[in-house]
Amino acid sequence: MRIFLISLYFFSTLIILDAQKPEDTEVWEPEPKQISLDITNVPSDAIRLFDGRSLEHWTSEDGAPAQWLIQEDGSFQVKPGAGAIETKEAFGDCQLHIEWKSPEIIKGEGQGRGNSGLFLQKRYEVQILDSYKNRTYSNGQAGSVYKQYIPLVNAMRPSGQWQTYDVIFKAPVFNEKGEKTESGQLTVLHNGVVIQNNITLLGTSEYIGPPKNMPHREAPIMLQDHGDLVSFRNIWVRRL
Ligand code: MG
Repeated sequence: MRIFLISLYFFSTLIILDAQKPEDTEVWEPEPKQISLDITNVPSDAIRLFDGRSLEHWTSEDGAPAQWLIQEDGSFQVKPGAGAIETKEAFGDCQLHIEWKSPEIIKGEGQGRGNSGLFLQKRYEVQILDSYKNRTYSNGQAGSVYKQYIPLVNAMRPSGQWQTYDVIFKAPVFNEKGEKTESGQLTVLHNGVVIQNNITLLGTSEYIGPPKNMPHREAPIMLQDHGDLVSFRNIWVRRL
């Protein structure tokens, strides 16, 4: 009897295994949308936030036209004192590409050298700073999530050279009571190198004091005026 049961189990297992086909584990729907890439690798489903010519996608914080200066080389530059600029459109989860450059002529040190900032949802800062041979607090150097996460490495090209950030952002989620139910998350590549690996945002980037977690909806991408002549070009974003 026992041998009979064991053989029954054995053969039935074989029959079940035999009944499985490769097709059983194939999933065909949905089919990913076909996109294309242009010669500079901008995906066709991206929103170009700067095309080298106009700041039409940007505004000053008070709603007035963005005052930053468009350069002859197809970049634009911080206009010190003009204040931050932000996108007219609000964003939640997204993939963002941005290129930036600190001044060729080195001026200042620490936080005073080539300082700007990329703010997701106007609240979460990926630091922009000339951190090439320029020591400052580690959680405030280029590629840090300001005062929250130190970059894994310093991937800076020398001062005055173009740098790239590629950011994958998952926005925090708040419920009707205003409580945070899901934290934000960030991955950042600096010049193609992973420097923030899916970190969990603790809240807003604050210069003084701990991060805050006030509820908010989708919000603009903002670039900081920290008084330094930082340039930007080739900015695009994809909603996720
Ligand atoms: Mg900054």
